Amino acid sequence: MTQEEYKIYIDNVIRRVEFARVRFGERHIVKIVAISKYSTAKEIEKLYKIGQRAFGENKVQDLKAKSSELEELPIEWHFVGNLQKNKINNLLDINPALFHALDSLDLAHELQKKLEARDMTLDALLQINSAKEESKHGVIPENAIEIYRQIEKECPNIHLKGVMSIGAHSEDKALIKKSFETTYEIYKQLEGATICSMGMSGDFELAIECGSNMIRLGSIMFNK
Ligand SMILES: *Cc1c(COP(=O)(O)O)cnc(C)c1O
Repeated sequence: MTQEEYKIYIDNVIRRVEFARVRFGERHIVKIVAISKYSTAKEIEKLYKIGQRAFGENKVQDLKAKSSELEELPIEWHFVGNLQKNKINNLLDINPALFHALDSLDLAHELQKKLEARDMTLDALLQINSAKEESKHGVIPENAIEIYRQIEKECPNIHLKGVMSIGAHSEDKALIKKSFETTYEIYKQLEGATICSMGMSGDFELAIECGSNMIRLGSIMFNK
């Protein structure tokens, strides 16, 4: 694909986001985070040239490698993956714009300690395992609000901005929809929360129609 063809391709993706956005509400705004985990720094640069500014990775070492390779570009880096405790310092060295996958009170306490020691803060989202799947990280919906409030209270260096979910792993659209609705219901009850991160390449329109305002698009943004 030439750069010109790529631009037309991306315009089409954005048009799909637009249609879904308006179905939820005229004033609803949706931000696209391009997940570059399957892509090279060169491919990220091509998408950057079209106008994309927010990119995300799911492995700390990849985030580190690509953000340093592209450090001359004013990219807003997100971290969307599961964070192991022994990688916290590496993540904080990079100081990402947003950590999407804070998935337990225990991890929040570890993060708080490290943040406090460095005298820094981190914007984060509480990950909710809305379909209660074994294979997924996150707090269960029943506990989400209480854990969110507890983190706010006990971890002053973590600035919670809202919630994140991965749609149910299913062919059944109704089931995926239900998982998004569960997360959105929790999001609405959280005072001060501004980000509801849900929707990936295969289900972003459904996620937006359920109220998502931040979608994490990997394969579709890089045409993979
Ligand atoms: C890989 C990944 C995405 C993007 O997935 P695609 O299906 O390629 O769009 C979004 N969120 C998380 C947490 C991911 O790991």
